Amino acid sequence: MPVYRANAIVLRRTNLGETDRILTLYTREHGRLSAIAKGSRRPASRLAGATELFNFGRYLLATGKSLDVVTQSETRESFPNIRADLNRIAYAIYIVELVNETIEDREPNPDLFDTILSCMYLLEGGVDPEVVTRAFELQLMAASGYRPRLESCARCGTPTSTQKVNFSPSIGGVVCGQCGPLPEDTMTIHHETLDTMKALLNAEAAQIRDSRPSERTLDEMANVMRWYIRYRLERELKSSEFIQALKAGR
Ligand SMILES: [Zn+2]
Repeated sequence: MPVYRANAIVLRRTNLGETDRILTLYTREHGRLSAIAKGSRRPASRLAGATELFNFGRYLLATGKSLDVVTQSETRESFPNIRADLNRIAYAIYIVELVNETIEDREPNPDLFDTILSCMYLLEGGVDPEVVTRAFELQLMAASGYRPRLESCARCGTPTSTQKVNFSPSIGGVVCGQCGPLPEDTMTIHHETLDTMKALLNAEAAQIRDSRPSERTLDEMANVMRWYIRYRLERELKSSEFIQALKAGR
């Protein structure tokens, strides 16, 4: 069986039989792929750590007939600080679930891989998970062809005013008041929220780390991105519902 190496993050795992797992890996070199980790549920398995959700490592894979096989792995970062905090775990799981729902198999995108990894390191480093997640959502949408239009009206191109702004998930961005009846999913947000979204859409790790949006901006962004992504995926992710429940219980 031909073997190959890949830098990968675990997006998903499911049990198979008594002792095996099937991993969905997002690899920097080959995009998303599924591979079987044989015996990885045995207590002493050398592959156990490599099968944890959002583990980042170097994987040695063998090409199989239907599924590839994980033959060796070396963990580069297991993100212990994320794993020690239920709130951070929830956001990290949401990020990998969102990636898994948005991308296709075997379509490498090293920039997107680096963005995921960089957001994981920000979560690990104690950066506000809401800010990291909003930046990630915006950048993932852009990378998958759904960059929201924020600079001008998505219908007529009129530059956004300095007043309150309308945002419509179904139109794909901001929409001005002159463009006929607004769709039912239109939300009104403050201009400060729009400016923060524009900044996060193109932000590098250091800018995300240093970004300090107000509570109002965080709430508005959370609402906008929740409905924007829901419209694109045509459903709500389980991990997103879990985050809502955590927030409601706080
Ligand atoms: Zn317009």
